Amino acid sequence: MSESVYPLIDLRTAALPMPAATPAERLRTALLDTHARPLHDLRISVTDRCNFRCSYCMPKEVFDKNYAYLPHKDLLSFEEITRLAKNFVSLGVRKIRLTGGEPLLRKNIEVLIEQLASLSTPDGSPLDLTLTTNGSLLERKAQSLKDAGLQRVTVSLDGLDDAVFRRMNDVDFPVHDVLKGIERAQHVGLGPVKVNMVVKKGTNEQEIVPMARHFRHSGVRLRFIEYMDVGATNGWRMDEVLPSAEVLRLLQQQWSMVALEHSAVGETAQRWGYADAAGQHDTHAGEIGLISSVTQAFCGDCNRARLSTEGRMYLCLFAGQGYDLRHLLREQGMDDEQLQAQIDAIWRLRTDRYSQLRSQAPAGTGPARRVEMSYIGG
Ligand code: SAM
Ligand code: SF4
Ligand code: SF4
Repeated sequence: MSESVYPLIDLRTAALPMPAATPAERLRTALLDTHARPLHDLRISVTDRCNFRCSYCMPKEVFDKNYAYLPHKDLLSFEEITRLAKNFVSLGVRKIRLTGGEPLLRKNIEVLIEQLASLSTPDGSPLDLTLTTNGSLLERKAQSLKDAGLQRVTVSLDGLDDAVFRRMNDVDFPVHDVLKGIERAQHVGLGPVKVNMVVKKGTNEQEIVPMARHFRHSGVRLRFIEYMDVGATNGWRMDEVLPSAEVLRLLQQQWSMVALEHSAVGETAQRWGYADAAGQHDTHAGEIGLISSVTQAFCGDCNRARLSTEGRMYLCLFAGQGYDLRHLLREQGMDDEQLQAQIDAIWRLRTDRYSQLRSQAPAGTGPARRVEMSYIGG
């Protein structure tokens, strides 16, 4: 594993924050970070491997046949993931998203989903359990994922034109198979399906309107994501970012759109609906989302923690270091109470708001060493 790709400190030697309070004290004070943000979402990366080589995420030149992926023994087992998830839920997490790498490449992922689906919140409600996938294996797996207890899927798809899509995934994967996967997911009830399109200027902006046209009236929620400067390998440049405002302008040239309310606190997308003749939201036509991670930072209510494939807890997509929870499980043998005290203390000390600071700072002055998107998940 190259040090420049996984810029992490080894937290077996670095101190974890001391537990801030006793269980009783913790129950009396809401778990908020230093900017008063609660812990609500947990994104769990279940593999650092992928069968695609999207240039904005795992460029071929870096993720080649010599690339050192994590050895199996370093991955959290399903039991370890479920145990950590259970403790996160006790601390307030209500939504879990499985990601990667490509999560459907993790062997027997359905077994993990079953275990996570059996967790419930302290008041007995089910968790919101979802997964982000490139869709390549979705047609084959949608039914078993649903049967295991998955509620919804988000599928990444960067264009409808086959040549553009094959170029963007850089492994010559046909768009037809992903579209079949999306249909299958809808058919088995893994909806509402969301589709994420990363827009890279000069690469796929001509696909914006065809994608919107394709998914209008389909029940799929299409979301346009600004190309982000995650990781250290994608050679990100600001001039390749197409601002969401521009995406909206292109859509408004075709359709009349109405702004919709945020559906939940911490929701990353600005929602826009297609309007009917009276200017009201035409719910049959549906809605789109704009995720403006670069031009309009949403750190203010970012309530997401991330758990990497090898069990490190990250407080931000752009973090350069994570907290080694696997060490607490495996070497320190902590019980649930001790784990919760550690996670609680880590969250209370959280200061991260990378995108907000980036938008206020001169270009290129952010942290130089960042974790890769394929390692931590989106
Ligand atoms: N392999 C799965 C997939 O592609 O859906 C899950 C992991 S992928 C890292 C999660 C999401 O991150 C995808 O929707 C992907 O498009 C997005 N992503 C990856 N690199 C990105 C970048 N540089 N900017 C914006 N989004 C990115
Ligand atoms: Fe793989 Fe997803 Fe990254 Fe593309 S975005 S390379 S599909 S992990
Ligand atoms: Fe959250 Fe970090 Fe993204 Fe801000 S930059 S929204 S803190 S993940």
